[in-house]
Order: sequence, then C-alpha cells, then structure tokens
Amino acid sequence: MQRFFIPKEDFSGDYIISRDKALVGQLKKVLRAKEGDKFWLFEGSGLEYLGQLIELSANQAKFLIIDRRQGIAEADSQIVLYQSLIKADKFEWVLQKTTELGVVAVVPVISARSIVRQVTPAKMKRYQEILKEATEQCGGAVIPELSLPVSFTEAIKHAVKQPGVKMIAWEKEEETDLIKAKDVCIFIGPEGGFTEEEIGLAKDSGITSVSLGKRILRAETAAIATLARLIT
Ligand code: SAH
Repeated sequence: MQRFFIPKEDFSGDYIISRDKALVGQLKKVLRAKEGDKFWLFEGSGLEYLGQLIELSANQAKFLIIDRRQGIAEADSQIVLYQSLIKADKFEWVLQKTTELGVVAVVPVISARSIVRQVTPAKMKRYQEILKEATEQCGGAVIPELSLPVSFTEAIKHAVKQPGVKMIAWEKEEETDLIKAKDVCIFIGPEGGFTEEEIGLAKDSGITSVSLGKRILRAETAAIATLARLIT
C-alpha cells in the first residue's frame, strides 16, 4: 500500500486534510486515487495511520483515520552517522540508502579534506526531501534527523555527549574492527579520508578508530556497509 508522510499540523481529530500540491497531484494524476482508497500515513512520531480517502478535489485531499498502529519497521538500534561532506550526488545516495537501512540521524561534517565545504539552503531542502521519500518508500515511520553541517571539532563534541559506542572508520586501523552495539555514533570520512590530526583528536576524545576490512572503500560505500552491519 502506498505510504505518505503528512505533517502533524494537517491532522485534526479523526481527519487529515492535506493541501500539499505534490501529494494531491500524485493522488489524482499518478495514482488515480478514488474516494474509499486507503493509504498508510505517518507524521514522524513512530505511529502509522490507515487513512481512507473521503474527498479529493483539485487542491485538497481529506482522509478519515480508520486505524492506527505503532510503526512496524523501526530498527532497534540507534545509529547516528557523522558523514563527512562528499560530492552532492554521493551524499544523496548515502542519505537514501542509510535511511532505507534505518539510520536515526545524519550529521554532515566539514572535514579537513572535504572538497565540498558547505550546503546551500536549497540543497538542504533537497536532502530533506530525499529522507522523506526514502522513509515513505521503505516502510519507516520516522524520518531520520538531518542536522546542519558542523565542523569536525563540533561533531566530535556532539558525539561524545551521545549514548553508546563511538567510532571513527579509519582505513589505516589494523587492530580494531567495527564494534556491534545498539547505540552507535560512527564517523565516515570524505573522499580523501581523515587527516592524522583528525584521527588524533577523535581518539583523544574517547572515540575508537575501527577498520571496515582490508579493502579501501569509497566514502559512500563505507557509510552503507557500516549501516548494513550495525542495524538490528
Ligand atoms: N582516500 C583515502 C581513503 C578514503 S575512503 C585513501 O585512499 O587512503 C573514505 C572514508 O571511508 C574513510 O575516511 C573512512 O572513514 C572510510 N573507509 C573506507 N575504507 C575503510 C576501511 N577499510 N576501514 C575503515 N574505514 C574505511
């Protein structure tokens, strides 16, 4: 069944009224939806609502909530991905795939070797849209949080305050492999990798450097491989 994200403010008692042009357009033109059709709708809190379309006009869709349940596809693990900025198309790929896998939050990090060093408001909007669409598609009920880009130092300060195991993926690490845990913060570097100084700062802050294996993965592969191994 088709699933849609609906912002909280569109909920009113047992009804949902959406004037979102994209949603109304998709219902009318793409899905050719009719009154009586049912859809799973979610507002990001973790609940899902079975909405029956009771009115569809040129500019609004009205649903009656006929059932509600706890989202059935939420991961048990809480993985926060500190992803160094990489080229936008690769970054988008990371957002989409790690959302499918069940990441809870992504913090874009400006690292010493990041070629991309800023994200425009328009790009942030696009990134949010990717997270929303990936969540709709994969059956998730909570859209991962996306922070504004922060410096590497800020990211480290942020991570040390989080619960669970904190790791930084470093291709030169020879002893420690990725640690499996329920709550995890994981740093993945940019195309050119982390500098020795960054690894030093992370380690001094109590963050463990870990290996993802003997092969050097591209940044986007490293992020996805890490999520795939950690999610439970
Ligand atoms: N340019 C570097 C590699 C960067 S790979 C080089 O050629 O040596 C991009 C990022 O992916 C790294 O910063 C690291 O976080 C992660 N990564 C890739 N392969 C890895 C591995 N085998 N072990 C740990 N981290 C890895």
